[in-house]
Amino acid sequence: MNKLLTILAVATAVAGCASPTPAEKPQSARNVILFIGDGMGVSTVTAARIFDGQSRGLAGEEHVLAFEEFPNVALVKTYNTNQQVPDSAGTATAMMTGTKTRAGVINVSPDAARGSCAGALENPLVPLSRTAKERGLAVGVVTTTRLTHATPATVYANSPERDWESDKYLSDEQWALGCRDIAWQLTHPDDEAGLDIAMGGGRGEFVGAGGNRKDPAADLIADWLAASPDRQFVDTAEGLKSLRPGANVIGLFSRSHMSYVARRKPDTTQPMLAELTAAAIDHLAGSPDGYFLMVEGGRIDHGHHIGKPGYALVETQAFARAVETALARVDLDDTLILVTADHSHAFTLAGYPTRGNPILGLVVENDRRGEPNPSPSVDADGVPYTSVGYANGPGAVRQVPRPEPETGVYSVAQALVPVVHTRVDGSPDNGETHSGEDVALYAIGPGSDAVRGVIEQNRIFDIMRAAYGW
Ligand SMILES: [Zn+2]
Repeated sequence: MNKLLTILAVATAVAGCASPTPAEKPQSARNVILFIGDGMGVSTVTAARIFDGQSRGLAGEEHVLAFEEFPNVALVKTYNTNQQVPDSAGTATAMMTGTKTRAGVINVSPDAARGSCAGALENPLVPLSRTAKERGLAVGVVTTTRLTHATPATVYANSPERDWESDKYLSDEQWALGCRDIAWQLTHPDDEAGLDIAMGGGRGEFVGAGGNRKDPAADLIADWLAASPDRQFVDTAEGLKSLRPGANVIGLFSRSHMSYVARRKPDTTQPMLAELTAAAIDHLAGSPDGYFLMVEGGRIDHGHHIGKPGYALVETQAFARAVETALARVDLDDTLILVTADHSHAFTLAGYPTRGNPILGLVVENDRRGEPNPSPSVDADGVPYTSVGYANGPGAVRQVPRPEPETGVYSVAQALVPVVHTRVDGSPDNGETHSGEDVALYAIGPGSDAVRGVIEQNRIFDIMRAAYGW
C-alpha cells in the first residue's frame, strides 16, 4: 500500500472508531486546494509520467506522478457553452462558479456576449473564492503565467474579455460604463482586503513605464501598497522567505509569463511553482477558518501551443512537484486536494516504441522476437518518426521529402497540419490547438469520494462547496 493510501486508511479507521457526535463533521474540509495543469490532458500526464520516470533512471512507463496515487478519479467534460473545444477562461469559470459559459469570458454568464461590457455588468457570476472570503476563509492563487491570465483571473475578476489584462485593451467607452481591466481588479478589491496571497508573472500589466498600461506614470502596485500598511509586495524567490504573517501579499516575478522551466537561467530570481505553492500554503495556514488556494501550472499549455512537447513535459513535472510539496504540508484529514486540467491538447503518444524508449526520441520498435531493433523505424518515406507529436500546429511538415524530426527537450515535434485561426485582435495564429476530449480529475481528502464517473466541469464547483459543508 502506498504512503497516501496508508494515511487515508488510518484516517478513515480513526474516524470510524471515534463515533462522532452529530455536531461533528468529520467529512468536511477546512481547506481546499485546486491544482489546474493548464492543457494537461491525459496524453500529457502519460508522457510526463514516462518523462519523469526516465529522468530518474527508470524505464518510465511504470512510474507514477504524485497525484496519480490519489484514491478518487473522474473524467471531466470540458466544452464551453458555445464551443466544442474549449478555452481556459470558460473552463476556469465553470470550475470557479459552477456555471459553464462561453469561451473567452471571466466569471460572466453565457447570457452576455464576449467583449460586451454592459452584458458583463448585468450578468456576473460569483466565484467560490469570493464566497470563501465572505465566510471568513483566506484565499490565494499562484501561477506560472501572468497573474492576470485567464485561469488565475477567475479567482478575483469579472471580465467579458480575457484579453483585458491591462487598461490598454479597454476603450474609453467601456471604462466609462464601469468595466475595469483585470490588473486593476486585483489591486482594487471590492472588500478592501482582497486576496490574502496572489503570485505569478505579469508585472507589465500593472505599470506604465516598461509595461502595458496607458498612462506611462501608472504603477498599480505602488498605489496598492500605499493604500494599506497590511500589504506586502515580493518580486524574487528570496523574498518569499520573509512574508509577514497576516499581510495581503502580491508577488510578481517577471514582466510577462514566468520562464519555461526548460529555459530557466542558473541565476534566475524566479521561484519554481513548488516554491510558490509552499509559500502560499504556509501563509494561508495562519487563517483560523481555513482557506481556498488555486495553483496553476500555466505553461504546460504554452509548451504545447508552440509545438514543443519537451517544454510541456518539464512544466508538468514541475507541476507534479508542486502537488508533492502541498501533500507534505497539509493534513489530509482537513484538506481536500483536487488536481485537474482545464482542457487537453492535440498531443499524441503513438507508434509502437519499445519499452523504455526515450519519450522525446525517435521510435525504436521491437523485432519479431519482441526485442528492441538496433535502429529507429522508418515510415514509407524512409524517414524516422517520433513517439510524441501533434495533430496540428507549428510542427506541420510542408517539405517533401520530410525532414528527419527533431528530438529532445528543445525540439518542435512534427504535426500533421497547420491550423490557422484568428486571434481576438484579428492577427493570425498558427499555434497548436487545444483538444476536446475529457480530462481527468484526481482527488484526495475530505469530500474527495464525490469525484467519480464522468462529470460536467462545473460540477467541480459543487464538489468543492460540498467539501466545505456549505
Ligand atoms: Zn491554451
